[in-house]
Order: sequence, then C-alpha cells, then structure tokens
Amino acid sequence: MAGKVWFVGAGPGDPELLTVKGRRLLEEAGAILFAGSLVDQAATLFAPPGCEIRDSKDMTLEEMSAWLLDQTARHATVVRLQTGDPGLYGALVEMTRPLTAAGIEWAVVPGVSSAFASAAAAGETLTLPEVTQTVILTRVAGRTPMPAGEELEALAAHKTTLCIFLSITLLHEVQRALRAAGWAEDAPIVVVQKASWPGEEKIVRGTLADIKKRCQAEKIGSQAMIIASPALGAADWPTLARSKLYDPAFGHRFRKASAASEETSA
Ligand code: SAH
Repeated sequence: MAGKVWFVGAGPGDPELLTVKGRRLLEEAGAILFAGSLVDQAATLFAPPGCEIRDSKDMTLEEMSAWLLDQTARHATVVRLQTGDPGLYGALVEMTRPLTAAGIEWAVVPGVSSAFASAAAAGETLTLPEVTQTVILTRVAGRTPMPAGEELEALAAHKTTLCIFLSITLLHEVQRALRAAGWAEDAPIVVVQKASWPGEEKIVRGTLADIKKRCQAEKIGSQAMIIASPALGAADWPTLARSKLYDPAFGHRFRKASAASEETSA
C-alpha cells in the first residue's frame, strides 16, 4: 500500500475551527503526526480508534519525514496536523520534498491562520476603506534571519496592517522597528495569546509606548500574535469612510447602484 499524506491546517486551537475537510481526514486517518500542544485536542477528538497519534515536538524534520513515509506503507490516509494554516511558518516544503522524492502523494488542506483568529477574537478588522487595504504577515528575525528587504522596519514603513508571528519574546525589537518606521507612540497595538482557545485566550490592548509593559503584566511570553494596524479600534471611531461594496452608489456584479453615497457615522 502507498498511502497519501495530507498536510492539514488545524486552525488556531479551537477544534471547531478545523475545516470540514480537515475533520473528515482526521476521522479517516490511520496515523496522525501533530505539531505540539496547540493542536493535540483536534487530533485526539476526531481520530478513529486504533489510529497512531504522535506528537512531533521532540522530532527533527528528518525524523518527521521518515515517520510519515513509514506510515504510508500501512495506511491509506496519513495526516500531518499543523497549527493555523500549513503554508505559514509550517516547514511545509521541507516535509513534502522527501515525500515527492519517495514517490508518495501528498496534498495540503488550508486552515484558519492565527492571524485571522486573533483579529476575530479582538473584534478587529484587518482592512478598512481609506485607512489600510493591505495586510503584511511577517515576523522579526529570531534564529531564522529575515531576507534582505523584509526587515520589520522596512515593512512597517508602509503603515499598513502588520500581523507579526513568532515575535512576542522580541516585542522590544518590534517596538524599535515601528518607531524607526515613524509610527506614533500612541499607535494602537493588540496582542492576542492563544486566540480561540476556550478559557485560555488573552487579549491585551495597548499602544506602541506601553504594549510591552502590558504584556509583561499579563505574563504573555509565548503563543501570541502581535497586530499593529491603523484600523485597530475602528469599531469605536465616530466616523468611517464607507465600504464601496455595500455603498448604495456603487454598483457591482450582484447589485445595481441606487441612491447617493453617504459617509457612515456612528
Ligand atoms: N501556521 C500558523 C503559524 C505557526 S508559527 C498559523 O497560520 O497561524 C507559530 C506562531 O503563530 C506563534 O508564535 C504565534 O505568533 C502564532 N500563533 C499560533 N497559534 C496562535 C494562537 N492560537 N493565538 C495567537 N497566536 C498564535
């Protein structure tokens, strides 16, 4: 038998944020390799009896590839379960290349990224008409260096929404980069820890000046998303530019234009 390996996005933590397809694959899986504590719930909730379930946290990439390959000799469906979406900081190609080389079929099932779960938890939008229409998903350099031109300072110069992964222990570096890019001391920043985790989610709101102090006070040192965006807090702004999609004066493929446009105000 030569089974197929599915790289499944588990979503941000709440098992209900797994896709329907991801859940079906877990229910059919002969073997599941899951990525650390963030997604073990989904694996154990949905795996069928007798399924081989292995935590990858103490394994090297080579050991993971070897384990997945080995399982395809015994099972039609082998799942590699990853946090959020497998295409973001998931070492996806490092794992798929050995499978391809061995002639094993594989496919990816996308997942809800923690960037989106964090914005959702905080009730924030990542884009807002005439404020920001771009989202940058990034990190600061840790052991993994940033490629030239992708330093946070350079990206932050665009003044768009920034979703910063893997960087909560480097919050001082995030602050330095945003300051260097000209962000104001009172620019809003939200940090969400364990977004979507029932009973464990923490949301810390602050400014460029005080976000680090606030995170320290809440003891947030891991598993957190940093969102810096000119759109943060817009739910409470007195006036908003109107989204063209729902503007009566703006027709599109599904709706004809009608009355004149107005600015929405609260
Ligand atoms: N593929 C994942 C990201 C993995 S990198 C995704 O799409 O979300 C791990 C980083 O993701 C963490 O350092 C943290 O910044 C973020 N992260 C993962 N799960 C999170 C959660 N539930 N809440 C907040 N941040 C999370």
